[in-house]
Amino acid sequence: MTTALLETIAGNAKAVDNNEIPARYGIELLGAREGFRRTTLLETARQLREIAAVDLSVAFGIWAHTMVITYLRTADTDYVRYVLPALENGTRPGVTGMAPAFKEAAGAGTIDLTATPGEDGYLLNGTLAWASNLAEDAVVVTAARTPAGERLLVAFDGCAPGVTLGTPFALLGLNATSSAGITLENVPVPHGQVLSRDFDAFISAVRPTFLILQTSECLGVADAAIDAAATRLTGLNEVLAEDVAEVRERVTHLIHTQELICAVLDDDAVVDRVKLLELRLAAARAAVDATALEVRLAGGAGYAQNSPASRRFREAAFIPVQSPSETQLKWELRRAKQEG
Ligand SMILES: Cc1cc2nc3c(=O)[nH]c(=O)nc-3n(C[C@H](O)[C@H](O)[C@H](O)COP(=O)(O)OP(=O)(O)OC[C@H]3O[C@@H](n4cnc5c(N)ncnc54)[C@H](O)[C@@H]3O)c2cc1C
Repeated sequence: MTTALLETIAGNAKAVDNNEIPARYGIELLGAREGFRRTTLLETARQLREIAAVDLSVAFGIWAHTMVITYLRTADTDYVRYVLPALENGTRPGVTGMAPAFKEAAGAGTIDLTATPGEDGYLLNGTLAWASNLAEDAVVVTAARTPAGERLLVAFDGCAPGVTLGTPFALLGLNATSSAGITLENVPVPHGQVLSRDFDAFISAVRPTFLILQTSECLGVADAAIDAAATRLTGLNEVLAEDVAEVRERVTHLIHTQELICAVLDDDAVVDRVKLLELRLAAARAAVDATALEVRLAGGAGYAQNSPASRRFREAAFIPVQSPSETQLKWELRRAKQEG
């Protein structure tokens, strides 16, 4: 990732926060510079962490887009070979409507979309409560259940017949990420757009990337916030020096752990699911702690909506909510430990 590119993203962060520039521009920018070409997980994770350090909204859009590319590469079908170039060069955005699928895989929820067999494939019905990067030209990946109970991973266009993209409404942050619900009414999905019928194997294959790249979102914003906090430790603020040092140490340690795990995954070795969940949960907490410290140290200026401290604080408030939520992560970890 070039310094110039990061400077451009940093320079636009305020306008993105004000919803004057859609976060999608980050996907276009990175795509034009071959930023979505196949590379190691370590490089992808570093790149996303650097982007999250300058703008979490842009990083979140890029995370979702990268996940769709990951799903498609994992499926590697004729349809994928047709559609993938437009995602890799950033001209079409990817929408990951996968929270219910990951919740189902964890035993914490169910896939609500239905896939009814039709003449040439399936008809999808139901609602996805949330998804980001919504656009008519998007490629959406999600999961649906057939009447026989089969769980399918499917892809469809944002402009396919029967798709209604929700209208984004005011959020605490991330307003430029085009996030809302999707309603599906008899959306045709030809057989060729079924990415996988082996639900468990597919989720197991993509889960490490999913969690590692979410960890990048968390650690990027945490790194930037704690760096900014550390510049304000004079006078009265000295009383928070130990707190800042503790979070700084935690963030540095977590970045190191993330990089070690990426290297292991890049070697095609298996990393225990518990280790990935622990890293993701610790990174989420570090993001919340770092931004909370920064906003305290910034004082009144941190409460002004257009300050970087306020932007990071509001954007990071999404992290405990992002699926798997903090609650789900704690629940999954407790269950995994009970199962031994
Ligand atoms: C701005 C924004 C963008 C988003 N973008 C995307 C996206 O691109 N893709 C995507 O897939 N999702 C997206 N989401 C959804 C997000 O990832 C979460 O899935 C969503 O916020 C719901 O979280 P939840 O699982 O806690 O479920 P909710 O249904 O909202 O949970 C409500 C409450 O019930 C609790 N709860 C959850 N499950 C259970 C259970 N089984 N039993 C008992 N209690 C339970 C939760 O802890 C919470 O307290 C987005 C959300 C937002 C706000």
